[in-house]
Amino acid sequence: MEKDLAIAVDIGATNLRAGIVSKNGKILKRFETQTPKIKNRPNLLISTIIVLINSLLEHYDKKRILGIGAAVASPIDPKKGEIVTPPNLPYKEVPIVKPLKKYFSMPVIIANDCTAAVWAEKHFGAGKASKNFVYLTISSGIGAGIIADNHLLTGHNENAGEVGHFIVDTTYNLPCPCKKGTGHWEGYCSGSDMPFFLKIWLKSEKIKKKYAVKTSKDIFDLAKGKDKNILSFLKEIGKINARGISNIIVAYNPEIIIMGGAIVLNNHALIIPEIKKNIDKFLAPPKIIISPLKENACLLGAASLIFYPEK
Ligand SMILES: [Zn+2]
Repeated sequence: MEKDLAIAVDIGATNLRAGIVSKNGKILKRFETQTPKIKNRPNLLISTIIVLINSLLEHYDKKRILGIGAAVASPIDPKKGEIVTPPNLPYKEVPIVKPLKKYFSMPVIIANDCTAAVWAEKHFGAGKASKNFVYLTISSGIGAGIIADNHLLTGHNENAGEVGHFIVDTTYNLPCPCKKGTGHWEGYCSGSDMPFFLKIWLKSEKIKKKYAVKTSKDIFDLAKGKDKNILSFLKEIGKINARGISNIIVAYNPEIIIMGGAIVLNNHALIIPEIKKNIDKFLAPPKIIISPLKENACLLGAASLIFYPEK
């Protein structure tokens, strides 16, 4: 039987997705649940992944599966096949490759989610015709995948795209969820950290009005209701996003920046124009577009790495 399908797993900070994907990038079946986040119990994450994959295998013959690709929103150790100190999950190290290989007896690979997503854009999405482009996600965290001179840029430990930890501010000096520094992009503009930044920003602007904001969605709902303070806050977010993206432009000289992640996909009219307005013009700005693969970019990426491994 021809091995013409891949199993893809997308381990996000919020959602856990698994799907059966065909060679031309079609998701044939997909299941989704919340990512288990119980402190120091990474086994629960593995067992949930196994349940999702088993549900998929009820619909498709295991003999058709070439392998399992797992994309994860975290730094990884590719040699050990582990997730390492994920900034948005309450675990230290989580072995992924070993337990899945043992359980399903098939090849398993792990990749950073943005590395996977940029590979999906290369094979199935907006990067087919480009030799130099970047996939940038703004979701619970911020990260990038980079195609440089037609190759996947992975870096020494396959963590080359951790651009969410670019230092983009020295005014507010906010801590970062990575706990390894201050002023990191992710600590300001990610979905998880935007509410805290709003609190600090309101104080620094001496704005007395009280806001019961718990999530970034609350912020965008207020902005869509034309709240003046919140719209000014999003201008500040736009400036900071533009600093991060300006750094990406001078570092990688991309032809296109493909943007994804829930914050961008759900609120692009409030995010993209402010970035374009504030971007540094040292180099000619690249095209900035929204990912045509939308919320499936990382899942498709995990499959694309199984079908089309980078040599
Ligand atoms: Zn950081």
